Amino acid sequence: MSLRPSILDPLFAPANTLPGVGPKIAPLLDRLLGEPGKPTRVMDLLFHVPTSGISREMKGSVADAPIGEPVTISVSVVAHRPPPPGRRAPYRILVEDETGDVTLIFFNGQKARLEKILPVGERRYVSGKIELWEGRRQMVHPDRILDEKSIESLPAVEAVYGLTEGLSSRMVGKYIGVALDKVPGLPEWQDPAWLDRNALPDFRQALSALHRPDNAAQLSEEAIAKAAPRRRLAYDELLASQLALALVRSRMRRLPGRVNAGNGHLVERLRSALPFGLTGSQAKAVEDIRHDLVSDKKMLRLLQGDVGSGKTVVGLLTMASAIEAGRQAAMMAPTEILARQHYERLAPMAEQAGLTMALLTGREKGVARRTILAGLADGSIQIAVGTHALFQEGVAFQDLGVAVVDEQHRFGVHQRLALGSKGEAVDILVMTATPIPRTLALTYFGDMDVSVLSEKPAGRKPIATKLIAIDRLDEVVGGIGRAIANGDQIYWVCPLVGESESIDLAAAEERFEMLKGFFGDQVGLVHGKMAGKDKDAAMERFSSGGTKILVSTTVIEVGVDVPNATVMVIEHAERFGLAQLHQLRGRIGRGSKSSTCLLVYKGPLGQVAQARLEMMRQTEDGFRIAEEDLRLRGEGEVLGTRQSGTPGFKLARLEVDGDLLGAARDDARLIVDRDPDLVSERGQALRVLLYLFERDSAIRLLRAG
Ligand code: ADP
Ligand code: MG
Repeated sequence: MSLRPSILDPLFAPANTLPGVGPKIAPLLDRLLGEPGKPTRVMDLLFHVPTSGISREMKGSVADAPIGEPVTISVSVVAHRPPPPGRRAPYRILVEDETGDVTLIFFNGQKARLEKILPVGERRYVSGKIELWEGRRQMVHPDRILDEKSIESLPAVEAVYGLTEGLSSRMVGKYIGVALDKVPGLPEWQDPAWLDRNALPDFRQALSALHRPDNAAQLSEEAIAKAAPRRRLAYDELLASQLALALVRSRMRRLPGRVNAGNGHLVERLRSALPFGLTGSQAKAVEDIRHDLVSDKKMLRLLQGDVGSGKTVVGLLTMASAIEAGRQAAMMAPTEILARQHYERLAPMAEQAGLTMALLTGREKGVARRTILAGLADGSIQIAVGTHALFQEGVAFQDLGVAVVDEQHRFGVHQRLALGSKGEAVDILVMTATPIPRTLALTYFGDMDVSVLSEKPAGRKPIATKLIAIDRLDEVVGGIGRAIANGDQIYWVCPLVGESESIDLAAAEERFEMLKGFFGDQVGLVHGKMAGKDKDAAMERFSSGGTKILVSTTVIEVGVDVPNATVMVIEHAERFGLAQLHQLRGRIGRGSKSSTCLLVYKGPLGQVAQARLEMMRQTEDGFRIAEEDLRLRGEGEVLGTRQSGTPGFKLARLEVDGDLLGAARDDARLIVDRDPDLVSERGQALRVLLYLFERDSAIRLLRAG
């Protein structure tokens, strides 16, 4: 049962309770605004932001009226010219003032109705856009035709809304108007001084001003986005999301953490055994993490670093620290291939340092699995590497101190929590390779501290990226022949083509066969439908150099590390997200040789697709690519459709409200510091805000504590 304050009831009421919204209209509104399976509510209507507006301000005479812009003119009706009988021509009506004339055009116009609303000899106000047609002014389907009396009721400025079939902007505007009358006065949850300083209206005024703009300067989509009313509402929404995150975070913090660090000897020993020195930002991250581990607060830290920036080592040193403190550590990877690779990389180092490490994925079964489970339970296994299988029921640690989660964006918040529950106050380090723009990082990970690996290990060569049309595939094959002769290895990625994995598979298998025709046994294939053992075998043959070309679906996307691979071919590159292309490309350029990435596309490319591929050619900077992706595609798609738990914003737009997001986070932290249980007057109002934007699961935490 929801404990939503009843003051919000009018906003959560279904839209079909509004006068005028009957059984015919409601489904249309659902199609426009509703989420699947959920009927539209009054607030969904209110949060539907106009896309533009129409000015009804009088633009003077016919001769002066600007062409192609919405105008309202005062004219007298001169003549009706119905189409000749039997011809499918429009109905025309000539109107004029002292300065000139305009022909009004009606397709399917009904004579009787038109004679009634535009009687010859009478004066009328007509709104719409004037266009020139063969040098003459005409107006097709005026928006409004009003007489002296009804002009009074016409707003000077009218908001325009995105449409759906069967619903005109005016109808939507009408229902929103009715909804506006239902908005209750709500307690102010924002800091009044802040509102004053930024000249922002209160919640109810903001909604009203958003939908009933009072001057023509606020009418473009851009102006609407930047104007105070929408910004106020966007800030409300951002504050709600940041406050919810801050509450979760403070709850986790309030649970006492434990000191998960010893005197540093083990970390030092591992560090000096590395074949390389840490980069500056790796060293800084290790220091940040040590600081967290030494403190008795719980660690919840995000390690963000571009592909190849060397996150794994930082993860290993973090785990070593827990072991120094006499506890266990775990590293969770999103796929079996990756878990296995981490294990193979880390096991020798661990062994050298005298640590015991085990691998646990869904594939360890029977006796092997039981042995590992026993080792985890009695503490004889100090480090566990694995997939989410690590955190399923039946897996018990003797004393888990630290959990490292690799490639976080594939895990949802729930999995993160499940992982924390495997031990007492587990310190958590989350590593993500997706270069998430700062703005997005805040919305996804606003509850975490962040360390960034901003530099790549020394000695990396730049990757040359080229765009090639699919018609030139023979040249690509030729180039690959030369690369193999040169001792290089090649990744060949086939894309997600169809809705089903089997179609993708067919494409990859076909390419595999074709390449085998040229290069015989030097070609390997790996895809998601293969049995785990076969997958490993294929990966193993490639990384040991047995095969030279590895054809794959996107299973190699994350994390795989084969330094001798210097060529990456990506087919249908135009179908991938930029972030994904960047991830894929990050698989090469890891060794001392220079590397090449071939983005093979199927033309003709649209403008955006062209710009995106061009971007890939120009830079290797993952953050720049991500920012650009955000700009080109909008927030929703940047992290890909695989994303779960995407915080969908109704009003906030991260491209324009990035500044507000930072402010909302700081505000939320301050609120939680001062009033952790939201009991003050503002705290009570903030509870209303959380319910309003449906972030109220955070309130349950308050109650539980
Ligand atoms: P990612 O951040 O993508 O997970 P990895 O941890 O897989 O990157 O590291 C990529 C490669 O760089 C690995 O082969 C790793 O051993 C190597 N590496 C990590 N740190 C350094 C460093 N400081 N100097 C040189 N090579 C490094
Ligand atoms: Mg990695």
